[in-house]
Amino acid sequence: MGRGDHGRYRLAQASVRTKQPIFAAFGLGLIVWLVAPAAEAPEARAEIAPPAPVFAIPPAPVLAAPPTTRLLRLAAGDTLNSVLAAAGVGASEAKAAIAALARVFPPRALKPGQEMALDFIGLELSELRLATGIDRDIVVTRARDGSYAARQRARRLTRVPELAAGVIRTSLTEAASDAGLPAPVLSEIIGAFSYDVDFQRDLQPEDSFEVLYDRLYDERGKAVGTGEIAYAAMTLSGKTLRLYRFLPTGARTAEFFTAAGESVKKALLRTPVDGARLSSGFGMRLHPILGYTKMHRGVDFAAPPGAPIMAAGDGMVERAGAAGAYGNLVLLKHDGGYETAYAHMSRIPRGLGPGTRVRQGQVIGYVGATGRATGPHLHYEVRLRGEPMNPMSVKIGPGQPLAGADIARFHAEAEATDRKLLALRQATLVAGLPGARLAQ
Ligand SMILES: [Zn+2]
Repeated sequence: MGRGDHGRYRLAQASVRTKQPIFAAFGLGLIVWLVAPAAEAPEARAEIAPPAPVFAIPPAPVLAAPPTTRLLRLAAGDTLNSVLAAAGVGASEAKAAIAALARVFPPRALKPGQEMALDFIGLELSELRLATGIDRDIVVTRARDGSYAARQRARRLTRVPELAAGVIRTSLTEAASDAGLPAPVLSEIIGAFSYDVDFQRDLQPEDSFEVLYDRLYDERGKAVGTGEIAYAAMTLSGKTLRLYRFLPTGARTAEFFTAAGESVKKALLRTPVDGARLSSGFGMRLHPILGYTKMHRGVDFAAPPGAPIMAAGDGMVERAGAAGAYGNLVLLKHDGGYETAYAHMSRIPRGLGPGTRVRQGQVIGYVGATGRATGPHLHYEVRLRGEPMNPMSVKIGPGQPLAGADIARFHAEAEATDRKLLALRQATLVAGLPGARLAQ
């Protein structure tokens, strides 16, 4: 019972300090502030600064008066029940409102920081609203008979296309940040280009990028997130690769396609471990342990011990386990006569054995230094019909091309995107012209 008592104690202190009329109860760690009646403009709501918390006797009920709205925020350790109790909602009312909410959203899934609005008419909780996603609200409303019902309400989001472009001076991350490119957009485009670009090796100063994506704004004009990336281009050593997002007929998710309408997804990933650095290439080299020149049949990626290793492509496990100098080894068989091998793993996941089907990107082991290895790294091999190939130059061919009606629709959509790009580039150019500033 410490919470309620403590809360009341703190409330009493607050009332002495502020000597203000009372609107809201203040709970332990709970931020409560008074907001103008719901009828007021939403912009006004957002701008009201939280006043000092005050304790008060609830205002006398006035018939037909607009509801009083209180905004609450869940703090760590709060439950919805404790928050409602602290806000002055009666126990049976709170129970009924929470039960109604639970039919559309599990109250346990609410996290600290979650904001919600409570409408009171007199002492009664007339409505509870909370946002459960950037585009979704849940509204729990009290009926005349005192029961509560919950429903989901889609929030209207406005999509505003935004063009971000930059030239790489030191790193892609820095150039992206200078261009105002949000981190999730950057990581999505890195993923899209990773089949064709080795981000550890191929990037040079003066390389550049351009991205067209949507920013999402809520009804108050507040930026709430990013939407889809319509287009992304990278120019590496003067060569430009353009990718367009497209949803093929019957597909569940949109993907990136080259300007020719080929999927960027390839049969094999170039780097089957995240954030790795190529530490030793393919071919003849002086072996670090054996001390004599030997053919290096694969490539080595330096990566921290325990870093997850991904299947380079869809396939089937041929072997998984200790294999002499290779240490813990996983060998995968892919379509078209390809095999990939991953050596020196610290660990192979349970349940991965000969005959297991794996998907591209699935974790098949963790970086280690088992077998003949000087330190933790991934030794990665690609073989075509048993012949070792250089994984960094193996040509796996273009991705699946679009066909039939899809290809025509793709070209039409790509042309529309190009027109949008042209307009946005011109707008950026005009805004950035030195003359435009001098003329003022
Ligand atoms: Zn190696």
